Amino acid sequence: MNTHPKKERTLVIIKPDAVQRALIGEIIVRYERLGLKLVGLKMTVPSEEQVEQHYTLDPNWRRVTGEKTIASYKSRGLTPPSEDPLEITAKILKNLKKYMTAGPVICMVWEGAHAVELVRKVTGGTEPRGAAVGTIRGDFVVDSYIMSDNDDRAVRNLIHGSGSVEEANMEIPHWFTKDELIDYKVSREDVMYEAELRNILP
Ligand code: GDP
Ligand code: MG
Repeated sequence: MNTHPKKERTLVIIKPDAVQRALIGEIIVRYERLGLKLVGLKMTVPSEEQVEQHYTLDPNWRRVTGEKTIASYKSRGLTPPSEDPLEITAKILKNLKKYMTAGPVICMVWEGAHAVELVRKVTGGTEPRGAAVGTIRGDFVVDSYIMSDNDDRAVRNLIHGSGSVEEANMEIPHWFTKDELIDYKVSREDVMYEAELRNILP
């Protein structure tokens, strides 16, 4: 399994703010109409431990996110609250835990060629303020690091999507057991992935 590119899988979490704003259907349709296949779906209220583990599955996440955030402050001409990347990430993580456990979320696994990259593209950039028009974040949410930092909260960006295939491969088993993921076929896959278009004309 997961050898042919069409078998690539990615984790998507519809975050508590999106559920509250009744955007579940709106979000699902965007991935579905790309031709990606939904292979796992559940509603859950995550625990703080589950959220912390999710974000720290990659042992480098704390350092990388801290460094990225410090650079982002400086590029805006602002002084970061700390020069220590781990201190910055500790604050981000505290706020992420509060945000992600505030209510139910929808966890999904989507499968298809380039699933990770396509989901990221349609979802849009992490900070909604800069997310491209036409992406989910660009079209459905107003928020920025300036606003979220001001209020000492996580940026409300509606969705989590795995950042890479390696990240997806760690995140999927964190949220789903094997039994909760369904291997099945949909007829449109022939049109999308078969080498020849067959059985169309009589
Ligand atoms: P994502 O994969 O697009 O969600 O982005 P990351 O994995 O880089 O970051 C995960 C989460 O950390 C984001 O959803 C934000 O809540 C938070 N985050 C990342 N970068 C920044 C930043 O520069 N400033 C602040 N305040 N939060 C950030
Ligand atoms: Mg990420």
